[in-house]
Amino acid sequence: MTESRPHQTGDRDRDLLERARKILPGVTQTYSKGPDQQVEGVYPIFLERGQGCYVWDLDGNRYIDYPGALGPMVLGYGDPGVDAAVAEAMRGGSVFSLGHRLEVETAELLVEMVPCAEGVRFFKTGSEATTAAVRIGRAATGRDHVAMCGYHGWHDWAIGHTARNAGVPKAVYELTHQWEYNNIGSLEMLLETHDVAAVVMEPIGVVAPEEGFLQGVRDLVTKHGAVLIFDEVITGFRLSPGGAQEHFGVTPDLAAFGKAMANGLPLAAVAGRRDLMELIATTTFISSTFGGETLSLAAAKETMGRIRAGGVIPHLWEMGRRLLEGFNAAADEHDVPARMVGLAPRRVLEVQPVEGLGPTVLKGLIWQECLDRGLLLGNAHFISLAHDDEAIGLTVDAFEQALAVVGAALRDGTASKRLRGLAPGEVFRRT
Ligand code: PMP
Repeated sequence: MTESRPHQTGDRDRDLLERARKILPGVTQTYSKGPDQQVEGVYPIFLERGQGCYVWDLDGNRYIDYPGALGPMVLGYGDPGVDAAVAEAMRGGSVFSLGHRLEVETAELLVEMVPCAEGVRFFKTGSEATTAAVRIGRAATGRDHVAMCGYHGWHDWAIGHTARNAGVPKAVYELTHQWEYNNIGSLEMLLETHDVAAVVMEPIGVVAPEEGFLQGVRDLVTKHGAVLIFDEVITGFRLSPGGAQEHFGVTPDLAAFGKAMANGLPLAAVAGRRDLMELIATTTFISSTFGGETLSLAAAKETMGRIRAGGVIPHLWEMGRRLLEGFNAAADEHDVPARMVGLAPRRVLEVQPVEGLGPTVLKGLIWQECLDRGLLLGNAHFISLAHDDEAIGLTVDAFEQALAVVGAALRDGTASKRLRGLAPGEVFRRT
């Protein structure tokens, strides 16, 4: 039986929050990590450290971690192999005034693993990688328009269509057009009416692609002479060793990677067809001081090498399946209108609206009851190799108990009253 302890944000957390509010807009550097995206007043605001699949807050409370740092944690916190590789790189120096051996070795590994990859350029963030891919697509086609569907980062071309687009020149965002995942007709219309340089998409939306959808996109983009970019920032090194493109057997022209590739060290990459990648060194310009930073490359080489060796990805699928089934069974049993959806290695919690409850009250209550039982949940849940049998068993047990409480609260009309903090803000982007 999992112990339940009502959690309130601790004093240390609140003190630090007060200091942060004065000088850090939004409190953290990442939208989804902000206090207003959690159950404010209940959730911890800051985390102090992590080990394996566990994280600790400032007051020493331990949680089984599911946001996984929003995706990077694929082996787990403090993985000894990654730590050793980083320490060795650190002793030699982290950046140099010429290229480094690790750039070549890590790129070779990526080319071996990822179907579309014949050339590679490294970056620090996923936003840089997707933006570079779009630049290459425009350079290759001489066209300006971009067709996208999903979240691809914070840069001008990718964020103009959202409600938070102040500061983005209209001339830039008018060149980006949205289409709908699993709706090939919506893409076809754009391709027929605009000179599209690049079609950018996550190979899986929240849900899996419908039969033939990805191949249909591939064929359509080829027919229109545009460049197909898979944003594999989330799916890369998680769905299969070669990413979603390997899993689904559809090869894009270019792909962007980030998050999991270095198990938490800041590394991203764009990879793809050789003729397209060569444009970086000829007609267009993409360059950064820290792209060849060795600590992250060493971490990536170790992480990707372990993924290629086998064992990691099947573990993510198996443990993810147990979580998904465990949550959904408990939700069914206790009549809670919430489901985990998505593919096993990366699932999303979907909560149906309940009459008379604010839009995110039920989600907040589920998170709160899980937090009380030692689980840190967020909108997306990522598993790592470190989520072992014991952690998954504890989690499924905690789901069962938490959803029993939530179900009872829904039946007796006390859900709002039971939420001890503020309901989380609505999601502006997925992770
Ligand atoms: N693409 C996708 C699919 C993402 O989920 C994200 C980050 N959430 C990005 C791109 C941007 O990556 P980063 O935050 O590292 O810039």
